[in-house]
Amino acid sequence: MSLSGAGTGLAILPGGCTGADGVVHREAEVAAMTGRDEEMLVAAGRRSALLVTELLTRCVRRIGAITPVTADVARRLVVADRQFLLLKIREATFGTSVRSSISCPWADCAQRIDIEFTTSAIPVTQSADKGPEYVVTLTSGDELAFRLPNGADQEALSPLLQDNEAAALTGLLGRCVTRIGPHRPAPPELVAQLPPRDRQAIERRMAEVAPRIDLTMESTCPECRREYSVPFEIHSFLFGELSVNSALLRREIHYLAYHYHWSEREIMQMPRQRRQRYVSQLAEEIERSHDSP
Ligand SMILES: [Zn+2]
Repeated sequence: MSLSGAGTGLAILPGGCTGADGVVHREAEVAAMTGRDEEMLVAAGRRSALLVTELLTRCVRRIGAITPVTADVARRLVVADRQFLLLKIREATFGTSVRSSISCPWADCAQRIDIEFTTSAIPVTQSADKGPEYVVTLTSGDELAFRLPNGADQEALSPLLQDNEAAALTGLLGRCVTRIGPHRPAPPELVAQLPPRDRQAIERRMAEVAPRIDLTMESTCPECRREYSVPFEIHSFLFGELSVNSALLRREIHYLAYHYHWSEREIMQMPRQRRQRYVSQLAEEIERSHDSP
């Protein structure tokens, strides 16, 4: 994905979006966030699956021949594709370099550690079998078909996940199992009655066939010298990064409106990179005019 210039780019989804015609579309065109998008995310203040869906509809221009990318399309994307697109939007808006700090996960240390990495180096595993359905054989000998968890599942289950993880997992299974033996759709009571061995077999198979983005950061703490491994939560990170920048956004809007007499609306529609180019140009000119006698 090209990051220079206009702040849009093409990327190939590790999963893909099956269109009404049965074709799997994978080439996504992603645009940088505008001031409007940044403002929306900061104002929303929630780091939820709903917000990810909203951001994808704003910044993903098309997926293959599927355009516009509606909320419904964004919800049908599998979890890894949504994470992948968030990464690409973040790259288009801020570039590939991530600088942040975390607390050392070892409780008796907990020192602040500076971390730095490049998002383009994050390992992405594409799915070999695009489904959209996958089959496992149950201990009863019956076949069971499932689809992979998607954005709609995340939206429906993320409130539950905080309170009761086991119930959320059962709910997920109920949503993703599409057929048991001859029964399509799968009756909820049959899904609920699946023995643990079958549930584990389904979860294992899901993990095998799903596209994957390895968002684990592994390193050694410079303070306590122990190794640690922590998840990089791209949505929390991105939304946190934006709220840190919201004061700056307001200052930039004021600055450009004041000097160029542009409306707030015009400024807010610019991608971040373009807005900041104007800001630095203007700053240089003002500095030059101060220097000249
Ligand atoms: Zn440590």
